[in-house]
Amino acid sequence: MRCRKCGTQNPPNFTFCIFCNEKLEQGEEETNGYLVCSECGGCYELQEGENPEDFYDRCECGGKLVFYWYKEEFINGI
Ligand SMILES: [Zn+2]
Ligand SMILES: [Zn+2]
Repeated sequence: MRCRKCGTQNPPNFTFCIFCNEKLEQGEEETNGYLVCSECGGCYELQEGENPEDFYDRCECGGKLVFYWYKEEFINGI
């Protein structure tokens, strides 16, 4: 989750910002993160209990998968 004070992205279940220690607002959209292919743009949403490290593999197209916590991050990046 994003810190309101400094804008740092923190892992979803953190209570305090890893950067400035500001208390984080809970109750935002829960996410397990997303893996997005840098080549074909394919997006895989991780499910509860899935670990991004299990998926740090290549996409079917041969492109590299990049992990994002929030959908907005890669949507804005395109
Ligand atoms: Zn912060
Ligand atoms: Zn791909």
